[in-house]
Order: sequence, then structure tokens, then C-alpha cells
Amino acid sequence: MSEAKNSALSEEMILPKPDDFHVHFRQGESLGAYVRSSAQWFGRALVMPNTLPPVVDAGSLDAYRKKITACLPESLDFIPLMSFKLLAGMDAKTVETCAAAGAVAGKYYPAGATTNAADGPSNPGAVSEALSAMESAGVVLSIHGEDPDAPSLEREAAFLPALEKILDRWPRLRIVLEHLSTREAVDFVAKGPERLAATITAHHLLFTIDDMMGAGLNPHLFCKPPIKSAADRRALRNAAFSGSPKFFFGSDSAPHARAAKESARAPGGVYSSPTAIPALLGLFESEGALEALKPFVASSGARFYRLPAPQGRLRLLREPWTVPGEIDGIVPMCAGSELAWRLA
Ligand SMILES: [Zn+2]
Repeated sequence: MSEAKNSALSEEMILPKPDDFHVHFRQGESLGAYVRSSAQWFGRALVMPNTLPPVVDAGSLDAYRKKITACLPESLDFIPLMSFKLLAGMDAKTVETCAAAGAVAGKYYPAGATTNAADGPSNPGAVSEALSAMESAGVVLSIHGEDPDAPSLEREAAFLPALEKILDRWPRLRIVLEHLSTREAVDFVAKGPERLAATITAHHLLFTIDDMMGAGLNPHLFCKPPIKSAADRRALRNAAFSGSPKFFFGSDSAPHARAAKESARAPGGVYSSPTAIPALLGLFESEGALEALKPFVASSGARFYRLPAPQGRLRLLREPWTVPGEIDGIVPMCAGSELAWRLA
């Protein structure tokens, strides 16, 4: 049961403080703004390791975590959950020391699949020792599931046979397929074993490819994997609204500067940390799925990752909020739109 007052006309919504199981905080000067924005909305976030240089061992993991926590004011309780990036030939010892340093996930980026992924493994065999060590240590394998050699809208479906092989070869490895975007991937995860789960972003639940490029091109909605058809979005919504513990929220919030996004070669990524929760609340409410919101954003993911239940609460008010054109110097998801809910 949600702690929320469930009347369709209730004026406030109180949720356990949500978890975000997929976020990009970047590094350098902007790190602090992104961390503080996220910490207003989330109690914990799984921090992606594709920085430059990447997080690939206990030392770089610990240093990145310290930089993140150093940005937090004392008033904000926030726990960064750390991950490391799988590189070809990574040995068991590296995995074990990352796990000892607190890593909850190792991230598999197929070579060339997305931002800062040129150094990813070209096939799972290239990281077999590391995957076996993760299986033994109980570290979750987090996968960017796109085959970069397939046509761009078919990359996710094209990756699924490789995932099937990973499931077969490592029968105890717990796996999260990140940022689902297609019917095929939803079906694959739903039919897979209990140890296979998935994150879904707010932007893949809210938008379709026509929102991105049906009228004029909106580079601020361009991401990897690309947002797809209304039928794909329907499958994603059904999964999120089902309350199934296999599907939970990961924002994949990925800020890129406006100048880069509005250039001739826009990088993929949607800055959604500051707007995802009120936008999702509006969506789940309008679709009659409010009961599924709490498991989706604040319990199923924690259970899959074997973490304690979320601490703290998040209070939202039913008051129109026109999302600013820029937040933290970035054009956020839903910029300029009016959301029905805002942070109390
Ligand atoms: Zn990502």
C-alpha cells in the first residue's frame, strides 16, 4: 500500500524517498549541482562509472564516491551506490576489491554503445573472469543492452541473444537490463528468471519517438537507447504499472550542456533527475496506476539489489509547476511544460 492519500483529488502525496537505480553525475565543476539536484528527490542513486577516466577499480571508485559525498550539504541524506565499469580482461581480484569497497554493480557497456563506451568489451567472453567473480561476490551485472552493430532502432532487440548467453553461462549472476525501450525487451525480462530485472526511465515512459522528431527535432529528448514507438511505450507502461518486482525506476539522467545538445552532433542523454518524480506521479495517477508507483520508485529496486528499504520521505504537493527552461545550466526533461505536482 502506498502511504499516499489515495483520493484522486488529494492535495499532497507522501512517498518513501525514492531510489534512482541509474544516474550519471559526471565529474568536475558541475558534479555538485547534479548531485544536489538528485539528492533533493532521491535517497539513494546508483552512480554510473563511465566518467573520464572511468571507475574501474577500488581506488577510482572510492575517490569518486568521496567527490560525490563532499558535494552534499548536511541537510540532505543521500547515499551514492557505486558501480564499476567492466573492461576487457578485468580480473577477479579487481572485482573483489571493488565489492569490498562497496560496489553494488559492475556495468557492461558493449564497445561503442554510448557516451564514453569506446573501451567497453566487444563480447561477454572478454570479461568472463570478472563476471564469474561478480557471480560469486553477489555483485549485480548492470547492462547497457544495445548491439552497436545493428541499426539504431533495432539495437536493443539485437542484443537480447547475447543476454540469453550470459544468463546461460552464469546461472547465478543477478542481472539488470538498463533503460528498457522496446516491447521485445519487456517480454524478454518478464519471461526470464527471477534474477533478471530491468530499469525503466521516466522519458521512455512519457514520450515517443514522435515527441523527439515528429514535428521538429528536439535534441533534448535524444538518448541511447532512443525513445521508440507508442506500442513500445505501452509495453513499458504496462510493465511499470504491473507492480512486478522485476521492473523498477532508473532515471538514466544524463546531463549534457545545451550547446552540445543543440549542435550538429547532439550526444545522447536526457537530464531528468530534477523532474522525473513529479512527472511520473502525474503519469501513474492519470493512468489509474498510483498503487504501482511506490514499488516502482521506492521498493522493488532496493529488494533486487538486496538493500535496506528506503529511509525518509518525499512530500509532493498538487500545485502546477512550470518546469524552468534550464536547471543547473542544463535543459531538463519537460522544460517549459506544466507538471501537476511539485516538491513540497
Ligand atoms: Zn546511462
